[in-house]
Amino acid sequence: MATRILNQLQEACGEELALVRGDLGRLEQALGAMLKSLGVGLLQRLVDQSRNGYQGPCVACTCGGWMRFVGHRPRAIHTLFGWITVRRAYYCCARCGRSKVPYDEAGGLGSEQLSPALAKVCCLLAVDDSSGAVEGACKHVVGKRLKQSGMIWTRAGSSATLALRICRLNRQWDSFWQQKPLAA
Ligand SMILES: [Zn+2]
Repeated sequence: MATRILNQLQEACGEELALVRGDLGRLEQALGAMLKSLGVGLLQRLVDQSRNGYQGPCVACTCGGWMRFVGHRPRAIHTLFGWITVRRAYYCCARCGRSKVPYDEAGGLGSEQLSPALAKVCCLLAVDDSSGAVEGACKHVVGKRLKQSGMIWTRAGSSATLALRICRLNRQWDSFWQQKPLAA
């Protein structure tokens, strides 16, 4: 299969690539751009054909009631290949007002517009350390505090809690409260 696809690719883009063939740097760049646009196109197509978290007309809510399927809500996500739009199933409970997007939960999508793979790359680039150490740190800081059973977080609440947790893990708890005392 790979040979057949390579033949077709070469046939489709041969002319364009022939212009930079003698220059490895430019050839590499042109090929990178081409594969990226193919990747984002294929990714968008696959995502469009998926259920994106749709679990039927109703799902159970933690309040004991039912969350009703409201519709598919679009969200722009930056992936390794570029931007895609994912239309995710959105559920809301009329009884308690809670809402959820199972696709985001299952894929570990945070409040940022980064896909899991891109978030990982950014994390690795941002921290000059081995990937194992970074993964361990993410698990230690985020997972242990926020992913306990029954927990549901708002963006503001989770950010504030994580800021405090980092503060405590860095042994800056006392100095933080000295700088930012609670209003009397
Ligand atoms: Zn509810």
